[in-house]
Amino acid sequence: MLNKKSVDDINVNGKKVLVRCDFNVPLDADLNITDENRLVAALPTIKKLIGDGGKVILCSHLGKPKGEPKPELSLAPVAKRLTELLGQEVKFAPDNNVVGENAKAAIDAMNNGDVVLLENTRYRAEETKNGEAFSKDLASIADLFVNDAFGTAHRAHCSNVGVADEIRAKGGDCAVGYLMQKEIDFLGNAVNNPERPFVAILGGAKVSSKIPVINNLLDKVDTLIIGGGMAYTFMAAHGEETGKSLLEEDYKQYALDMEKKAEEKGVKLLIPIDTVVADDFSNDANFKTVGRGEIPADMEGLDIGEKTSELFANAIKGAKTVVWNGPMGCFEMPNFAKGTVKVAEALAELEGATTIIGGGDSAAACNQLGFGDKMTHISTGGGASLEFLEGKELPGVVAADNK
Ligand code: AMP
Repeated sequence: MLNKKSVDDINVNGKKVLVRCDFNVPLDADLNITDENRLVAALPTIKKLIGDGGKVILCSHLGKPKGEPKPELSLAPVAKRLTELLGQEVKFAPDNNVVGENAKAAIDAMNNGDVVLLENTRYRAEETKNGEAFSKDLASIADLFVNDAFGTAHRAHCSNVGVADEIRAKGGDCAVGYLMQKEIDFLGNAVNNPERPFVAILGGAKVSSKIPVINNLLDKVDTLIIGGGMAYTFMAAHGEETGKSLLEEDYKQYALDMEKKAEEKGVKLLIPIDTVVADDFSNDANFKTVGRGEIPADMEGLDIGEKTSELFANAIKGAKTVVWNGPMGCFEMPNFAKGTVKVAEALAELEGATTIIGGGDSAAACNQLGFGDKMTHISTGGGASLEFLEGKELPGVVAADNK
């Protein structure tokens, strides 16, 4: 069980709290924020720290400035929008050094409950290398540290790991914010101590990118469902024709090994029994459904078939914990989104179950198809959520104090 100190466990009154947020938002050519979900998601932690009388110093990366100041990747637009969302000034500290004279002057002028936002942490080359100088600089301006950036939790950078070590070394608390806490509760703890039956659904393009996830989940689940592009490698491993479908020849033996592991562990492993095949990788392609082993040599599978959708939906019924990572087909094209919709519906209909959606494409699919508010938890981190499901320890999580 991961039991990390949270913002509810620390006393910030009158203290300088450095908060690592995920403000990596998309900007258009005029530097307008085109999707502010990440800003809105950060508000509960910021409001809590303001309410408790902390001097709240926010930091984040934005894009990839590659270790040097890039005006188009400044966090200035974020400070402006956060000011509106919070209803109180978020003072931006423009500073090419991130923690230079401007930042220090802004922090010196803070009263309890004030908020300052530092410049893009990746303006400093040491940031992504967890270099000591920048970690020390960040720690020098704060008494306590709060990490609320799950998207970078699988990386050890100055602003989420190095700074925590430096703050702890001088006796300060290192806690997680509400967003991080939720990710830990669901992707960490619910997956490791699941209420059963526990069903995992894996899809997406490639087996190769999900190997450690399949392997780890086979040790925990009662049922493992495999759909999406990765299913064809399992079919091909049994000598079935897969036509022009996605196929990773080198992973056929791995697919057989995983089937064997499932059998040994008593895990029910399901792969598609029919497939929607198309004559082109396009929504306008001609398409039809064929049974297992019947994919024509000149066509490619782009979605699970209707019978498979039924099979998977039935396997999900009655589950108490479900984890889903990766779409069942090319959901970006409406003609090949039906299998993914059917699985999302099956999850949405579950009563009293915990439904956890891994970040990246599965989160996008859920939100885009209108099921966002029907799930217990949709992860905000792509790579980080995958590494959690692989059973790895995430440096950004490890760096926070245990309770
Ligand atoms: P991943 O990042 O591995 O989770 O893969 C997500 C991508 O897999 C999405 O963009 C889907 O369009 C794609 N995908 C899912 N099923 C298939 C399929 N049968 N053929 C090709 N691509 C697929």
